[in-house]
Amino acid sequence: MVPGDVVLMGPPGSGKGTQAKLSAGEPGWVHISTGDLFRKHLREGTPLGRLADGYMSKGRYVPDDVTVGMVRERMREIRRDERVVFDGFPRTIPQAEALEKLLGELGRRVAGVLLIEVDREELAARLARRGEGRADDSPEVARKRFDVYQEQTRPVVDHYERKGLLRRVPGVGSVEDVHARLRAALG
Ligand code: AMP
Repeated sequence: MVPGDVVLMGPPGSGKGTQAKLSAGEPGWVHISTGDLFRKHLREGTPLGRLADGYMSKGRYVPDDVTVGMVRERMREIRRDERVVFDGFPRTIPQAEALEKLLGELGRRVAGVLLIEVDREELAARLARRGEGRADDSPEVARKRFDVYQEQTRPVVDHYERKGLLRRVPGVGSVEDVHARLRAALG
């Protein structure tokens, strides 16, 4: 893959967050997770955190303008020679368009999009097991998150596929197996 930033995508329960953190540990790479940024705001009790929590606790997406504004701020801290792995962003078509615009302004671009694929039954089983630990993982909220993904984020997958940027990576097997496949796809 030619140098540039990378978008990591995958349905809830695909292991996307775990994989993004592993990739971010590699020299020269920076991990930007909008979910982590929202949770940080919430811990710090900022107005943005409180606003985001109203959506997150219901399994819904935070409005695009809020999410894009937060990413725009975070990008100010990124050096030119660093490569970014976006985790959980963009999740809607307007976010994908905003990202292209933002990266263009910064002289950057999306070099590739990696989609971690896990079939629906396996996802349901994983989400049921995950259960505790995350307030937004109750069965009801997990179902909602999955539906919202299908409705709003599948079109983003199709968008990147049409642009010829999408690479599908099977999400089955151990964390290390999946990580090795992602590394290979990154080239
Ligand atoms: P995550 O940790 O990526 O699963 O994100 C947790 C929650 O944060 C999501 O269920 C959404 O409520 C919110 N969130 C994270 N990223 C975005 C985004 N790109 N757009 C809108 N909401 C988001």
